[in-house]
Amino acid sequence: MYSRLRTWICRALVGLIGVAFAWSTFAYATSDSGAVPVFSGKRAMELVHLQCDLGPRVPGSPANRALQDTILAHAEELGFEARRGCFRATNPLTGEEMDVCNFVVILPGTGAGPSLWLGVHFDSRPLADQDPDPRIRTQPVPGANDGASGVAVLWHLMEMAGASPPARTVVLMFLDGEDSGREGDPESFCLGSAHLAAGWGGFNSLLPAARPEGVIILDMVGDADLEITQESLSLKYAPGWTSRVFERAAALGLPAFQARGGRAVFDDHIPFLRRGLPAVDLIDFDYSPWHTGGDVPSACSAGSLAQSGALLTDLIYNP
Ligand SMILES: [Zn+2]
Repeated sequence: MYSRLRTWICRALVGLIGVAFAWSTFAYATSDSGAVPVFSGKRAMELVHLQCDLGPRVPGSPANRALQDTILAHAEELGFEARRGCFRATNPLTGEEMDVCNFVVILPGTGAGPSLWLGVHFDSRPLADQDPDPRIRTQPVPGANDGASGVAVLWHLMEMAGASPPARTVVLMFLDGEDSGREGDPESFCLGSAHLAAGWGGFNSLLPAARPEGVIILDMVGDADLEITQESLSLKYAPGWTSRVFERAAALGLPAFQARGGRAVFDDHIPFLRRGLPAVDLIDFDYSPWHTGGDVPSACSAGSLAQSGALLTDLIYNP
């Protein structure tokens, strides 16, 4: 993702808030009915490690393809319909042609009602161009938080749905080519989501025919000092949906979610907003290892992943 306001210095404040909450619980029960599964932050953290162990997932790389193959195979094993859709695009950083491959998994609901579309970018940035060390800036980022964190949450939700079929149909969108953009050129980011949202990216026959209740994008949700405010473009163009999502977070008592206006971020929700769907971007942009070699699993925490997981679990199983 890209923010024109990234130079804001909020780090110290965020750190103090993080310490104040001292969030250490790994899993949340989201209902006392017994019917709702519990999201495990510990399991999500394992899935962050698994992705980082593959290496940087830059578009067109063997690690990027290996991650697609692994999740698609797991989806099939669990009995879910899943599909990959690739297209050619110009790499904004190099000018070379590259393969960009989104993939989608459908978790079929047992009840009626509108579906929920959840999206994450699974690619990682080819250049650590914010690293303080010039020698690192030409290297790809590890992408533990910026990429792997959101994927881990969706992947674990898929595992949970395998054991506990959800009440509503959920579309899991794994988006490629989000983070190969040029600094100062927001439209050069988010290639996969733009392709999918423009004409549903070849997934038309797989997606539910009816309009979803809303789209939720997760990005950088693993920061150990997690604080997610209401991204301002989500709030402006999807105010009702953004409010509903944050109201659920408040009802669940999830301290990372702060129902107040945040900065504007150009992220994978923008193409869906442009298509006329309500879309909210859940992102913590105050992450000091952003686009550096320091974006590693130790900068993330199971407790932070568990908060987004608990929120989505509730939206899926208690529609
Ligand atoms: Zn990024």
